[in-house]
Amino acid sequence: MEKDPVCGMLVDPKQAAGQRQYQEKTYYLCSPACLDRFDQAPQRYVPTDKPDNRKERTGN
Ligand SMILES: [Zn+2]
Repeated sequence: MEKDPVCGMLVDPKQAAGQRQYQEKTYYLCSPACLDRFDQAPQRYVPTDKPDNRKERTGN
C-alpha cells in the first residue's frame, strides 16, 4: 500500500485513481479530486527536504 499524500489514506497502487511523479518519487492518489489537488500544489503535500530549510543545529 502507498500513502495518498493529499488525504493521507492508504492506496492500493492497482486501485489508485492515478499516480504522479514528483521529485523522483511516485505518489498514488486515491481519487480524481486528490489528483487534482496534487497537480495544483504538489509541494504542499510532499515534505521537502531542502538543505536550506535547516535552521537548527547551525554552528554546533
Ligand atoms: Zn486521496
